[in-house]
Amino acid sequence: MKKTTANSDLKKAGLKVTLPRISILEILEEAEQHHMSAEDVYKTLLANGNEVGLATVYRVLTQFEAAGLVTRHHFDGGQAIFELDTGDNHDHIVCLKTGKVAEFKDEIIEKRLEEIATELGYSLSDHKIVLYGEVIGSQKDKRRLKVHSTTAS
Ligand SMILES: [Zn+2]
Repeated sequence: MKKTTANSDLKKAGLKVTLPRISILEILEEAEQHHMSAEDVYKTLLANGNEVGLATVYRVLTQFEAAGLVTRHHFDGGQAIFELDTGDNHDHIVCLKTGKVAEFKDEIIEKRLEEIATELGYSLSDHKIVLYGEVIGSQKDKRRLKVHSTTAS
């Protein structure tokens, strides 16, 4: 694993480079399913042979959030989900059975939201849409609309 990206990302965010921070940031940068709970991160660390406690994982993720590296989502009926903050402001759909998260970005919806805000006399600066449903059959990951250009590895 190369440490350079995580290293410089930490420095850019004004965080001291420590081993737990590097390991956790790398997991978030390299994860295929990049919406992760603290527990997911913890389990991945363990699987990689990294002895980092769950409390440390929570603390580091909170520091990342404060530094703007990571976004925290509170989806209904689940634990907090973290992902790298790429600034692309996408929306999410969450499976109520499995907790699986997929993301999407739809220009028609975004345009309509702008219009609605304008009609109501607002200028729109942000929005969050979360759809809840159930993953059907074998569509799996392949069918999800990818907006992230998977962070370089
Ligand atoms: Zn996302």
